[in-house]
Amino acid sequence: METVWIFGDQLNRRVGALANRGADDARVLIVESDAKIRGRRWHRQRLHLYLTAMRRFAEELEAEGFEVDYRRAASFAAGLREHHQRYSPDRVVAMSPTRWGLADRLRSWDVEVVDNDQFLCSAEEFRDWAEGRKQLRMEHFYRWQRKRHGILMDGDEPEGGRWNFDEENREPPPPDGEWPVPARSELGEVDRDVLAEIEDIAFGAEPAGWWPTTRRAALARLRHFTDECLPRFGPHQDAMTMRSWHLAHSLLSPALNVGMLHPREICEAVEEAYRAGRVPIASAEGFIRQVIGWREFVWGVYWLWMPEYRGMNELVAENPLLPCFDDPSRTEMACVRSVVSAVHERGWAHHIERLMLLANISLLCEVRPQALLDWMERAFVDAAEWVMVPNVIGMGLHADGGRMASKPYASGGAYVNRMSDFCADCRFDPKARTGDDACPFTSLYWGFVERNRDRLERNPRTSMSVRSLDRLEDKDETLGAAERVRDALVAGKI
Ligand SMILES: Cc1cc2nc3c(=O)[nH]c(=O)nc-3n(C[C@H](O)[C@H](O)[C@H](O)COP(=O)(O)OP(=O)(O)OC[C@H]3O[C@@H](n4cnc5c(N)ncnc54)[C@H](O)[C@@H]3O)c2cc1C
Ligand code: SF4
Repeated sequence: METVWIFGDQLNRRVGALANRGADDARVLIVESDAKIRGRRWHRQRLHLYLTAMRRFAEELEAEGFEVDYRRAASFAAGLREHHQRYSPDRVVAMSPTRWGLADRLRSWDVEVVDNDQFLCSAEEFRDWAEGRKQLRMEHFYRWQRKRHGILMDGDEPEGGRWNFDEENREPPPPDGEWPVPARSELGEVDRDVLAEIEDIAFGAEPAGWWPTTRRAALARLRHFTDECLPRFGPHQDAMTMRSWHLAHSLLSPALNVGMLHPREICEAVEEAYRAGRVPIASAEGFIRQVIGWREFVWGVYWLWMPEYRGMNELVAENPLLPCFDDPSRTEMACVRSVVSAVHERGWAHHIERLMLLANISLLCEVRPQALLDWMERAFVDAAEWVMVPNVIGMGLHADGGRMASKPYASGGAYVNRMSDFCADCRFDPKARTGDDACPFTSLYWGFVERNRDRLERNPRTSMSVRSLDRLEDKDETLGAAERVRDALVAGKI
């Protein structure tokens, strides 16, 4: 009998080597690798999600009749070796892993590797699409995906007559009002066993049931999202507020990234809600853009540019991770403190918080890209190398020199003030760039512009910021403040 080897981010009966096999044709191998679990200090909810979801997936397969060899081993290689000793399978088959380099390692262990079909655009299809293009732009990729998969299309034209509803989708949070409460699961025996096992090796709060650990729970989350949240997703997707950690975001990334949900079924559910008149086009389009646009684009560029991509540091940023990322009480910045605390509490923050607060402050303080990457990979429940590397190296820290994003996502306090309500509760003033109450983002932003003026001047999208810096009447004082603030944040003293 042959063996199908399933990894922790492939927990789906309908994909890869498992899709066309039944309990009579194959046995299943799942390995919990001690080297992986203890190799880094992970967020408790991240470890909990993977381990409980793997154990529950094994139970589901057993209920279907599969023989499952669920093995705890020192490493993946040791797990495979022990499996061979116990079962002598005719052959071992696995779906190509999502991490660069692992497929070759599997082949070197005589494992047959089949294509990964967890995305709508494979690495090879993306390579063909990218071939001959001077610059890869997400918008072009996204339209190509919509057309070839017939998602939200009206014949050859985009549904609603436009490809992009971003203009309607940039609203700050409304001053009051309730946000739909996300669905939650009760923790059970498996959860408690896992939590006891990882008690001393993880950081962050215990799970509160936000992250689904079975496909059934993930499907319930998808239904809840399309029914309750999606109509409000579009207008407020860039907003940040202290009153709600989730707003109308889907919270589906953990379920998607461990493989429980497939992007195709998510798009189908969203399109169905739109066609039934339950969701406006701006929200349906804005969400589908994230799933078949951004998510698949970062998957594609990861495979195109690895392995060099992970190590890039074009802006030569060499500072360590800011101390407030490990201990949010070490900063008085209300916005950063609030979001880092939320990450410790849930292992999650929404996109604009990740980009315009966590990555932005690291960019402006010249934090080494790989230091932020390491922290985010350990701290987020939905992290995986394929999604973190492009988002941190390319989008957040511009460490690829602009290969992925046409301009750095650097901004001062004015942006945070416009898109959030954090500043009202902060001891700093978002408009001040010098003095005791100067907002660190605002001072640091000008320091960033000065340091990178040659690069910014050459780009028509950013040249204006250099001219604005040169027009500041207190330019020298501002640049002095920027250096002091950076050093204070690096030392954990502001
Ligand atoms: C610095 C940084 C780090 C990030 N790290 C991760 C990560 O480790 N894992 C992860 O899944 N996403 C990551 N993202 C992308 C995005 O922030 C999260 O996917 C999103 O916040 C997850 O919450 P949600 O499911 O509620 O998303 P929603 O706002 O509901 O969006 C729907 C879905 O779109 C997809 N998506 C949207 N934007 C992106 C993007 N830029 N890249 C990939 N997928 C996207 C996600 O699958 C998400 O579930 C990162 C973004 C930045 C800027
Ligand atoms: S004033 Fe500055 S530091 Fe304070 S919350 Fe606003 S942007 Fe953040």
